[in-house]
Order: sequence, then C-alpha cells, then structure tokens
Amino acid sequence: MTGSSFDFIIVGAGAAGCVVASRLSANPDVSVLLIEAGEGASNPNIADPQGFVSLWGSELDWKISTEAQTGATGREILINQGKVIGGSTSINALMWVRGNRRNFDEWAAQGATGWGYDDLLPIFKKVEDFTGKLSPVHGEGGPVCVQPNPDPDSRSDAFLNGAVELGYDGPDWDYNGERQENGAGVLQFSITRDNKRASSAQAYLDPASGRTNLTVITGAHVFRLDTEGSRVTGVSYSKDGQTHQVHVEREVVVCGGAFLSPKLLMLSGIGPAKHLSEVGIEVKADLPGVGQNLQDHLQLPVVYAGAAERPLPTLLTGNTMFVNTRTDRPDAPPDLQLNFTPAVPKPLAPVLNIPVPVGIFLPILIQPDSTGTLTLRSSDPNDAPRVHPNYLSEAADVQTFVKAIDLIRDIAGTKAMSEAYVAEVVPGREADLEGFIRSQVTTIWHPAGTCRIGQDEQAVVDPQLRVRGFDNLRVADASVMPTVTSGNTQAACFVIGERAADLILNHS
Ligand SMILES: Cc1cc2nc3c(=O)[nH]c(=O)nc-3n(C[C@H](O)[C@H](O)[C@H](O)COP(=O)(O)OP(=O)(O)OC[C@H]3O[C@@H](n4cnc5c(N)ncnc54)[C@H](O)[C@@H]3O)c2cc1C
Repeated sequence: MTGSSFDFIIVGAGAAGCVVASRLSANPDVSVLLIEAGEGASNPNIADPQGFVSLWGSELDWKISTEAQTGATGREILINQGKVIGGSTSINALMWVRGNRRNFDEWAAQGATGWGYDDLLPIFKKVEDFTGKLSPVHGEGGPVCVQPNPDPDSRSDAFLNGAVELGYDGPDWDYNGERQENGAGVLQFSITRDNKRASSAQAYLDPASGRTNLTVITGAHVFRLDTEGSRVTGVSYSKDGQTHQVHVEREVVVCGGAFLSPKLLMLSGIGPAKHLSEVGIEVKADLPGVGQNLQDHLQLPVVYAGAAERPLPTLLTGNTMFVNTRTDRPDAPPDLQLNFTPAVPKPLAPVLNIPVPVGIFLPILIQPDSTGTLTLRSSDPNDAPRVHPNYLSEAADVQTFVKAIDLIRDIAGTKAMSEAYVAEVVPGREADLEGFIRSQVTTIWHPAGTCRIGQDEQAVVDPQLRVRGFDNLRVADASVMPTVTSGNTQAACFVIGERAADLILNHS
C-alpha cells in the first residue's frame, strides 16, 4: 500500500465510518480507502443477537479501562469498545434509541448549526427500515432494519401496565416517535428481518462490497495523520509489523470513536499544546478541546424477586421509559432511561448465575452533569489512553439514581407489578442508597463528546465536522456530540456518519 493514493481515507470502520465509506464510494469516480484496526466480522457470534456477550473482552474488543474513579468507590471501570469491522455496532446490545429532540436542539443552540432536531429527523428516517407502526417520523426501506422488540419473552406487561397505572403513556409507547419522554413501551432493536444483527457493516458495508473504488484494509492501526501546514497529506499505519504510508488527494475522515479519535489527533500533534509537549509530541495545532468534555452513561441494577418462573428472554432487555427527574430543569431532556427485563436474560444467565426468578430494572443516567477527560499516557500509539470520566463527581448525577430508585419502588407497588414481582432484593429497603449507587454503577458503553462540534475555542470541529485549522480533515463519530444523547448512542452515530458524507458530497 505504501505510496498509494486515494481521494478519501476513512479511519475506523465503526458506526459512522462504514456509513461514510459506503456513501462516498457510491460515486464510482472517487477512490475510497477504509482502514480498520480490527479484523473482519467473520465471528458467528457477531451476527447472532444472543451471541455477542461472549465477544466482550475478546480480541474484538479494545478493552479500555478508566482511571480509578473517586466517585465510584475508586474503581477502574472497563469500557468495552468494538475492534472489528462494524466497530462497537458489531458487539453492542442492539438497542435503537434516537435520543430526545431537545438533545439536538441544545446542540444547535450551543453552536452546532445545522444539527437541530428538524435538521436531523430526515436523516434518522433515511437510515432506518422500520418494521413497526409507520408514522410521519419513521422511515421505511433504509439500510438499518429497526424492529420493535422481536422477543416476546422480554416484553413485560407488568412493567408497562404498572407505568400506565402511575400516569405514564403506554403500554405501547413509541419513544422514537414524536415525543420520547413520559411513556412506557417495548424497546426497538437493530435486528434484521431474518433475526441477525444489523450492524453498520451489515447495513452499509456489505452492500458496497462489490465496488472496485472502495478498498477496505483490516488489521491496520493508523498511528499518525501526516500533515503539512493546514493540510493532511495522508496517514501512516502499521499492519503485521510493517509500517505503511498512504496519500490522500481530497479528505481524511477520522471515525475512530470517542476514545480513539482524540487519541489519534493528539498522536498527530493536534490537541492541547501543553499536554502534547508533556508527552513529547510536536505540536501541529493547539486545540485545547481535544479529549475534553468526555461524557458517558452509567447503569445500575435494581433486582426484584419474581412470583413465578418465566421463560428467559433472548435479548438483554425489552422494555423502557424515559423521564426527566430534574424538576429544577423542566425544559431539559430526560436524564433517566429506565429499562426493565422480566427475567435474567439468557445471554447473561451463565455469568449472573441467579437461580430464582427475578425481574431486573436498569436505570441509566443519560444526561450526566459530570464530564471528564481523555489524555495520552505517552507518545507510544500502542498505549491505551488515560480515560477519566469523573463518574458521579456531580451531586445531581447521584440524585438521578436516587430518584430512579424512588420511581422503581412506585412502579413495583402498582397492582400490575406487585402481582408479578413480590419483593425488592437489590439494593433492599434498608440499604444506604448513595453507597449502593457509588459502589455498583458501571458504564453502559456510550462515551461521547471528546472532539465536540462548536464555534468556540474549546470546539474541536466546526459544524461541517472540519477539524479547526485544517482544510481537509474531519471527524465523524460519537466524539463530535456536544452533549451525549438521552439514550443509547448508536442511532445518533449512524446519523453523524450520514451527515458527514452529505457535507462532504454536497457542501464542500
Ligand atoms: C458493549 C457495547 C454495548 C453497546 N450497546 C448499545 C446498544 O444497545 N444500543 C446503542 O445504541 N448503542 C450501544 N453501544 C454504543 C454504540 O455501539 C456506540 O455509541 C457506537 O458504535 C459508536 O460509534 P462510533 O462510530 O463513534 O465508533 P465505533 O463504532 O466504536 O467504531 C470505531 C472504529 O474505529 C476503529 N479504530 C479506532 N482507532 C483506529 C485507528 N487508529 N486505526 C484504525 N482503526 C481504528 C475501531 O477499531 C472501531 O472499529 C454499545 C457499545 C458497546 C461497546
């Protein structure tokens, strides 16, 4: 490959990277190179919606750990991230949540011009092939098949009707519809009509695989963007112990995800000048926001004893609702996603080993006030970055979980729920809630925000996703989110990929 030249080079074949590669290479007149550090998606457990738990911690996972988190009893928390074609969409839990319209309107208000809800809704529709009840806000015939929970064993009428008893809309609330919050319904999943994982690779790359103008290299780790002044001239990568350099004619798009995109920028001299100097990297562009503004979602298990055995669900969860618990911020997007699984999910049964019937509530903190940082450990590309999300450093984030447990207890007390689930087992009525929360929270793998869009000094990319100070370098992935969305993040990453391609094709 050394010496080859391409019109476009895309680094990272994850949620956004596969979308960008597919859309750009639809034009046969341009050449596109997609470089992925992981291998191809041949492992059968990727396609199987029940099989993927076994991939966590495998060679298809970057296995990135946080630094010790003071707010979470000093624990170092493992944040799995996909290292394979499809990126994290090849190992994720398949839930499909667009986010709240207020998330995107906040982005636009903070300087991400063109990223408001009304701007993005047509893209959300374009991405999806929705098999549920169609409405003006859903799309048909798009690349990603999105299904309302296809596993009847993971539906819980007790939970859904319990929420309705409390006054929430439901029990068939479409949270990806006009309004996300204050309703209870089944989760939607990125699963194909023949019950396979709908990853970005399956949905976007496979259909493009016959194109002669699209080159995909796997097992290739990009360790540097090569720059001259304000232009990127190419990328350097290592594969099988050899170093290669490829040239770019038009643009490089970095799609490495919220951890590895800022890492690659910094390895290339693009980032906070003081930090780069500390680790011995020559500064090419002083961008203080690179690696800052790290946000992640946290989850917490709350367990109830079931009145009777139920068949084990094949999916990790099945039911959800979105609530804004922060009464002092009535116009804010929901800060709580509350999932419920009516029995131990089959894929987790061997790991959890709970012999009695239980129902598992999973409150998720989806609008954290706590933000953190990502920095380099050294100038060695093989070193994992230092990830410091500052989990639960803000009191309001602990309060969201306290209010979530209050809500769970209210739902558990309803007629519908109390007939099916008889007693709180974890944390238990006598528990010290703050101690329980801090000791038991863990990531739900949604890092975002480390190369955020904006027009201020801390912004890393402008609203066209161009890295500030460069003519032909963009970032497109979870890192560009100004704030993390209210809900699982993959749908928004597909949309970021679509919008990046559109900006390159139509607005350059
Ligand atoms: C275990 C797990 C469960 C999840 N569950 C859900 C869920 O149920 N629903 C949901 O919506 N979201 C879920 N997510 C989150 C979702 O998958 C991510 O938000 C999304 O995939 C992020 O997309 P991305 O494009 O930013 O990065 P990724 O999809 O992570 O892709 C980045 C890609 O870039 C490659 N790469 C990085 N650096 C380099 C380099 N230097 N050289 C070459 N290649 C490189 C990586 O190997 C990877 O393939 C989950 C994530 C995980 C890990």
